[in-house]
Amino acid sequence: ALDLAGKHVTVAGLGVSGVPAAKALHALGARVTVVNGVAGERQRAEAAELEALGVAVRLGDGDTLPDGTDLVVTTPGWKPSSPLFTAAAQAGVEVWGDVELAWRLRESRPDRKAAPWLAVTGTNGKTTTTRMLAAILTAAGLRTAAVGNIGVSLFDVVLGEPEYDVLAVELSSYQLHWAPSIRPHSAAVLNLAPDHLDWHGSMAAYAADKGRIFQGNQVACVYNTADPETERLVREADVEEGCRAIGFTLEAPRPSEFGVVDGILVDRAFVEDRRNSAQELAETADVNPPAPHNIANALAAAALARAYGVEPAAVREGLRAFRPDAHRIAEVAAFDGVTWVDDSKATNTHAAEASLAAYPSIVWIAGGLAKGAEFDDLVVKSADRLRAAVLIGADRALIREALARHAPQVPVVELGRTDTGAMAAAVAVARDRAEPGDTVLLAPACASMDMFANYNQRGDMFADAVRSLGAGDSEEP
Ligand code: ADP
Repeated sequence: ALDLAGKHVTVAGLGVSGVPAAKALHALGARVTVVNGVAGERQRAEAAELEALGVAVRLGDGDTLPDGTDLVVTTPGWKPSSPLFTAAAQAGVEVWGDVELAWRLRESRPDRKAAPWLAVTGTNGKTTTTRMLAAILTAAGLRTAAVGNIGVSLFDVVLGEPEYDVLAVELSSYQLHWAPSIRPHSAAVLNLAPDHLDWHGSMAAYAADKGRIFQGNQVACVYNTADPETERLVREADVEEGCRAIGFTLEAPRPSEFGVVDGILVDRAFVEDRRNSAQELAETADVNPPAPHNIANALAAAALARAYGVEPAAVREGLRAFRPDAHRIAEVAAFDGVTWVDDSKATNTHAAEASLAAYPSIVWIAGGLAKGAEFDDLVVKSADRLRAAVLIGADRALIREALARHAPQVPVVELGRTDTGAMAAAVAVARDRAEPGDTVLLAPACASMDMFANYNQRGDMFADAVRSLGAGDSEEP
């Protein structure tokens, strides 16, 4: 087992991942120093909390490696090119992410067996798929939790109570970058589209980090047949003998695949009865919401659960019990024949493309910070579904230009204001444009930070504006 007692561990970063890491390391007897370049109000509050426990915190300098550091544990926000890591490399000091640390610690409780990990990554759909998987495992009577890139601290789950049978672990590309020795029981890569390239340096580096999730898999590497890059990552992975490549598809599955036949989710990979070439799992209507990309998420979750040995009935029960998190294609209201949907979590074009594909006639509210993205592809694929577009945010001109190039027939309204009332204004414009049968869809394809604190606030403001619109209507004589 990993022994950190007396070791000097430097934690790079505070926040939702740094603070729990520092606490876990401190509890294990390590001498902990947290470094953080920014020294704002939130950082000072977190520092005070840690210092009260006896953890040293250095604010305002995130670049210099503290003397005598034996190990660096980093939070996901820190770029690999950070000077701190250069200094660590020069000093021969290893750098682990929080996930690597949790993995190494999972065998440090001699009183129990370490729970295997079923891991999920991809550009989009990670949280949804991980939660679906946890719902299925729970339905199967297993003690489980959805962890990783999701709110719950991995350390609490690995070291604390209660004991788990198996974990559904969401892993971001950042976390995978710093987790060289994790060995999931089985893992899935949902899709790969350009995102976070500024952090990873290149698409090849981003894909390579995602591909780490398959290293050492024992039973199944799950990939998306519609996304050849995900299959390539499986082919290149170094897995345990006997580990199988399992594809998922929205079409009829071939052997060793999960897919859909006449509205039924079907398993052609883990079929026990040889006379039966396909195992029925659930109906597409059991998936919430039953949009195509989300059925893909459900198939991936089902594949991981079946790889772990879960019965078909539990797959169905778990999918039925699953409820999506807020701001992920959430129906906010329906009145005057128009449905209002909040997909504020669609922060990149690949995500927005998925939600635009789910509705036939859309008034689209989009815009924000583009993060270097191009919108041509998205507009070409979605143009025939657009009744109108309402554009907000700093980079709205990029979307307007793409619409002008590829869909000049789509009416565009641009809102220049960036104050917090801008979302209400966008909603009012959308109401005027929408006709019965339409969906007004907030799927920004952009990050939110130009106008909002985060995508949650953006979605909440949309929902509030929609609800007051609906309430106002019903009060009219
Ligand atoms: P992540 O955790 O990877 O950010 P989420 O499950 O939170 O993913 O979903 C984020 C957004 O991505 C959703 O609101 C939806 O717009 C889109 N999305 C979800 N699943 C998929 C998928 N399989 N393919 C493409 N887009 C998806």
